[in-house]
Amino acid sequence: MSQSCVFCAIVAGELPSTVVYENDHVLAIRDINPVAPVHVLVLTKQHFDDIVDLGENSPESSAAMLEAIASVAVIEQVSEAGFRTAFNTGVQGGQTVGHVHAHVIGRRQLSENLG
Ligand code: 5GP
Ligand code: ZN
Repeated sequence: MSQSCVFCAIVAGELPSTVVYENDHVLAIRDINPVAPVHVLVLTKQHFDDIVDLGENSPESSAAMLEAIASVAVIEQVSEAGFRTAFNTGVQGGQTVGHVHAHVIGRRQLSENLG
């Protein structure tokens, strides 16, 4: 566990969260400040700084992340209508929490503009 990492504290059960889905490697929780009716964060249980750190170092957690995103989409009933998955990365990518997480956002029409 990384010192003073808010998502490590959530994974450890030291901070509360609303869990949507869990597998051996990841935890999916509701975002505390949702931007859409469905806004779930998929967090790795092990600390990785970002998607580059994850992709370079853990095929197991990388695969589990994709499996969890698919499961969350089905559970939240957005898999047919569509949804967005984003990994904000680094300063210019808008990442504010330095523990890799996928945003799963949906149940409203999203802009085609990603910028
Ligand atoms: P980022 O900007 O790093 O891609 O996204 C961080 C996300 O984490 C934001 O959407 C923010 O609302 C969410 N967040 C930050 N702190 C907490 C928390 O303590 N609990 C939960 N559930 N979400 C959080
Ligand atoms: Zn962490």
